[in-house]
Amino acid sequence: IKKLAVLTSGGDSPGMNAAIRSVVRTCSYHNIECLGVYRGYEGLIDGDFEELTARSVKGIINKGGTFLKSARSNRFRTEEGRKQAYQKLNEVGADGLVVIGGDGSFTGAMIFNQEFGFPVMGIPGTIDNDIYGTTHTLGFDTALNTVVDAIDKIRDTASSHNRLFFIEVMGRDVGHIALNAGIAGGAEEILIPEENLGLDRLVDSLNRSRTSGKSSSIVVVAEGDKIGKNIFELKDYVDQNMEGYDVRVSVLGHMQRGGAPSCFDRVLASRMGVKAVESLLKGESNYMVGLLNGKMELTPIEKAIKGKTKINLELLRVSDIMST
Ligand code: ATP
Repeated sequence: IKKLAVLTSGGDSPGMNAAIRSVVRTCSYHNIECLGVYRGYEGLIDGDFEELTARSVKGIINKGGTFLKSARSNRFRTEEGRKQAYQKLNEVGADGLVVIGGDGSFTGAMIFNQEFGFPVMGIPGTIDNDIYGTTHTLGFDTALNTVVDAIDKIRDTASSHNRLFFIEVMGRDVGHIALNAGIAGGAEEILIPEENLGLDRLVDSLNRSRTSGKSSSIVVVAEGDKIGKNIFELKDYVDQNMEGYDVRVSVLGHMQRGGAPSCFDRVLASRMGVKAVESLLKGESNYMVGLLNGKMELTPIEKAIKGKTKINLELLRVSDIMST
């Protein structure tokens, strides 16, 4: 390996800049060149590259988003598009690719590797924590801190007005953000896709908390929750079936994807970048780097895409006990 290319793809997450910085500096440390690719696979197809040196990534470890920009690319889903990307990489002499993104981005990388034998390495960047082969994806911890901060603020106003708040958080089809931030924010109930509480039990539980003397209630709802109603219908249902609370909804939305990365995410990004580059230099390819049992480990990219992440059952129990 003489020259690595690095790109960010799919939905952005805090810590992507820190990961790019780490990839670039690890290349510099090992005296190989590094190319930044703008706009994910779109830029790969267009040859939108820039030589990056250790100095070109200064001052970005603390910045949210990704300075290389991210994109979704339909052209990369076609053989023609991927062939053009391969030609562009060849033209500039790049011989390895680090992809920072989610499972869709990894699928693209895997197909690209199968078609051209081009060495690829994945770094899991998404706030949802929905990727197999790592206990933490890049941006998850920052998003949790953002959500907890938002819950704390909503709690202040909820208690002043005796209100019940439904707060919708991101997380796609998994409840990692909701469960963790819900516990940390002292939520009375947490609704996640992995466990369907059912409407009756929800109302019972909220009634119990109200009669036990609580002046406010917070229900954290994962966007992928399967209780059978969207958050506004849920509000109406509870409004109609419960007395004593003024019920409100807050959908946190894209603020969860932004902000300065937490210390944890900066350290994780730095470790993942080093592991990704050094693994490629050792001749490894078609893996994703991840954090497992406190260590940097490689998982075959196909397994990372197909494997399912599991919710921590102990956390579910803790959340049940905390809401008594
Ligand atoms: P997020 O988790 O935030 O959605 P992601 O990486 O899963 O991130 P996607 O939009 O699913 O985001 O994928 C990003 C890009 O990866 C797509 O726009 C496309 O260019 C490429 N990609 C995804 N699936 C494939 C595929 N089957 N073949 C080729 N390229 C793909």
